Amino acid sequence: MNKILIIGGGISGLNAAKAARDASPDCEITLIEAEKNNTYIRTRLPEFISEEIDKEALFPYGDTWYEENNIRYIKDCTITEMDYTGKMALTQADRISYDALIIASGSSPFVPGIPGGDKLNVLSVRTIADSEMVKELAKSSSVCTIIGGGLLGLEMAWSVRQLGCSVNIVEFAPRLLPRQIDEQASELLLEALMEKGINIYLDSQTEEFVGSGKVSGVKLKSGTVIETDFVILSTGVRANVASFKKDELTVNKAIVVDGFCQTSVAGVFAAGDAAEYNGNNFCIWPIAISQGRVAGHNAARYIEKNADLLKYTEQQPFTNLKIKGITMFSIGDISAKDCEALVYTDKQSKKYIKLFIKDSNIKAAIVFGEPSITLTIKKAVDMQKHIPHYDSTISVYDLIKSL
Ligand SMILES: Cc1cc2nc3c(=O)[nH]c(=O)nc-3n(C[C@H](O)[C@H](O)[C@H](O)COP(=O)(O)OP(=O)(O)OC[C@H]3O[C@@H](n4cnc5c(N)ncnc54)[C@H](O)[C@@H]3O)c2cc1C
Repeated sequence: MNKILIIGGGISGLNAAKAARDASPDCEITLIEAEKNNTYIRTRLPEFISEEIDKEALFPYGDTWYEENNIRYIKDCTITEMDYTGKMALTQADRISYDALIIASGSSPFVPGIPGGDKLNVLSVRTIADSEMVKELAKSSSVCTIIGGGLLGLEMAWSVRQLGCSVNIVEFAPRLLPRQIDEQASELLLEALMEKGINIYLDSQTEEFVGSGKVSGVKLKSGTVIETDFVILSTGVRANVASFKKDELTVNKAIVVDGFCQTSVAGVFAAGDAAEYNGNNFCIWPIAISQGRVAGHNAARYIEKNADLLKYTEQQPFTNLKIKGITMFSIGDISAKDCEALVYTDKQSKKYIKLFIKDSNIKAAIVFGEPSITLTIKKAVDMQKHIPHYDSTISVYDLIKSL
């Protein structure tokens, strides 16, 4: 029987398994996962930390789902090396053969080489185990300091804050989320976070983590020392590619794939945070799902020698901050110079909307403080919906009504 092997039981691997099963009811599908858990919803870890949801809510499927779909799920098993010529994935103890392979190994937190980074209570958050550790520390400590004020750093700050801990964020850039929002929205966001009791050090670089054995402070390059009980590093991610590198596999930031999620090795596909398409490795949830589906479907077609392949359509990455009481949404390239900007500001209610328009289409948008319109705008940008009777004097709300 034809065998599809999927490495990584995250959301991308799970969707690859589902799509492969839909496309080929009879093939053998094996999903290998390094962690001891079934697939879980990583994006909900901040809510798990803040105890808005319990652990069960993280799992879309129990053991029976894998059995019912005839998917062999091997947990607590790590692939350490590949033999693409022999079509084998190697563990420390075993060799697993395949006819088609999908690498969905995701990414891991990037740990910057800051002196003192090996002290106790300096950690990153990627897994359920990391989240349980943060929860425990937040409940037994007074102060947490987060290095990195990106989207995940801000969500972590809010999760820890809800458990009663004081929170500092140290951010290198002079303002928050400079790639996702403009200065005006950054200011509103800063104000809203400070109102929630989160202290933010902008334009600040960490020189060292101080403390004997256990971290007790974060020393900034300015000389300021922030006293702290624990530190969360939120300084980006890197694709998990080390175990898969071989001369024949093209790897840049991540494993390079074409529009069918095929890699440079015939019969080997990649998806999600581990994959790079068109020079992009966005490392976001919706892309992991769609690439997983494409890779799974096409791996099944590959083994059947059937040319009816699925094509991956590149998605616009978007940012949607999940902090209760703060709406901050952005989509598209907000630095585009060739767009006309349509702006709505209400200082009283702290609403700010900026639409970037070109050829009667919304190309990008920033929405602060107005949750009711984000979905409409997202759809309009994704579908490049034509704005009827557009002229530059139209108000933002009238334009949105017309969509
Ligand atoms: C706390 C948190 C919140 C997030 N929030 C958002 C959000 O709001 N929106 C958003 O778009 N994105 C968010 N993300 C990013 C999102 O979770 C990822 O883009 C997504 O999980 C990628 O899915 P994946 O399946 O490609 O990789 P992963 O989720 O990383 O899964 C890969 C799996 O492969 C396993 N693996 C790796 N190497 C091996 C090996 N050699 N052998 C066997 N198994 C292996 C790993 O254990 C892992 O379970 C968040 C991430 C985190 C950590």
